[in-house]
Amino acid sequence: MSTTDAERPVLIAGAGPVGMTTALALNARGVPATILEAESADRDRSGSRAIYVHGTTLHTLERAHPGLGEDLVEEGLVWPTRRTCWRGKEVFSRTYDNPGGSGKFPHFTSIPQARTEDYMHEALDEVGVEIHWDSAVETVETSPDGVTVETAGGREWETPYLVGADGGGSTVRDEIGAEFEGDQSKNSFIIADIEEIDDEDEQWPLERLFHYDDPRAGGRNVMVVPFTGGWRLDIQCTEGDDPDELVSDEKMREFTAEIMGEQYADNVTWVSSYKFLQVMADTFVDTHRRVLLAGEAAHLLAPFGARGMNSGIADADEAASAITVGPENTSTMRRTAPTTHLRSSRQATTDCLCTVRLLGSFSRRLF
Ligand SMILES: Cc1cc2nc3c(=O)[nH]c(=O)nc-3n(C[C@H](O)[C@H](O)[C@H](O)COP(=O)(O)OP(=O)(O)OC[C@H]3O[C@@H](n4cnc5c(N)ncnc54)[C@H](O)[C@@H]3O)c2cc1C
Repeated sequence: MSTTDAERPVLIAGAGPVGMTTALALNARGVPATILEAESADRDRSGSRAIYVHGTTLHTLERAHPGLGEDLVEEGLVWPTRRTCWRGKEVFSRTYDNPGGSGKFPHFTSIPQARTEDYMHEALDEVGVEIHWDSAVETVETSPDGVTVETAGGREWETPYLVGADGGGSTVRDEIGAEFEGDQSKNSFIIADIEEIDDEDEQWPLERLFHYDDPRAGGRNVMVVPFTGGWRLDIQCTEGDDPDELVSDEKMREFTAEIMGEQYADNVTWVSSYKFLQVMADTFVDTHRRVLLAGEAAHLLAPFGARGMNSGIADADEAASAITVGPENTSTMRRTAPTTHLRSSRQATTDCLCTVRLLGSFSRRLF
């Protein structure tokens, strides 16, 4: 980036985890950045969402802001046991003596996305990166020298580079004419946060459970994962299910009591249902290579492998590097890593479905 460019901050659309990481990663490279966020400062970011933070993500965050990775590790949870069941019977279980490994950071940590974002906000405050709230990006015009952005209310901004980290419904993506390509899952999933109970004797063991054809959930596939302060309950709907009906308070209370025990039944704090998309923008940059897409603005991945926020944070770091060295390098903001993520998440999805089929054929022989 030229010195003249450095006088105008790089603009980032979106104060999600990807936009905030981009700002921190630019700041760490000595490049001024400002965030434009559509929502208000007092918004509600409820739901645990991206709980599983990969070790590589912790390293990236630590580089972007020393202490940030450490904060997540300190508050996050590393669970030692992976267990898999099929129709009420255990088919695999492994407990690791040292589940986090012996490196500076564990292989992963499990923490609600809202807490990760809180730490990112604190980091931005510390280094003086500004977030302009209620400033939805509405139009984007690019030229070989830079970008003109108009936000809600008609304010105009000039910047050498714009990073579109404005999520799955990205306006920036639309404005540069990029389009999503890919497909959507057939099944719906129900996802809920269950708050941890106080009585330690009644608490669930600290483990990640996959239960295929779980009789306690009417034969649906169930995943239970711990995070600091609670549990993620994920239920795969069957073909005849109406997810809107299943997410009712009464039904979720019933599922929770059946799967986790009556002691957790009244602790459902957040419920959502989703079908996942596996899509990627056909380009990550505009024709002048002054606009870069990152995170869910650029790709939406299946939940298997927890690549949503993790891959977005990798994009953020990549975008900051490319901007630091100049426009000829923003063209390297290509789709190689996300293509790999997309392939891996497709593979993980297939593996998951194969596991169901495999367990099905085992069952006929073994049980
Ligand atoms: C139920 C659920 C469970 C999930 N579980 C996991 C998981 O276990 N692991 C994982 O890695 N990921 C998970 N994810 C995905 C993860 O939450 C997302 O990948 C992550 O939030 C994407 O970050 P982002 O910054 O790209 O987008 P977002 O978090 O969507 O942030 C985009 C930001 O841009 C703002 N914005 C939108 N439009 C504009 C505009 N025009 N101008 C300015 N700002 C704008 C939005 O208000 C928002 O603040 C989950 C998601 C959901 C919904």
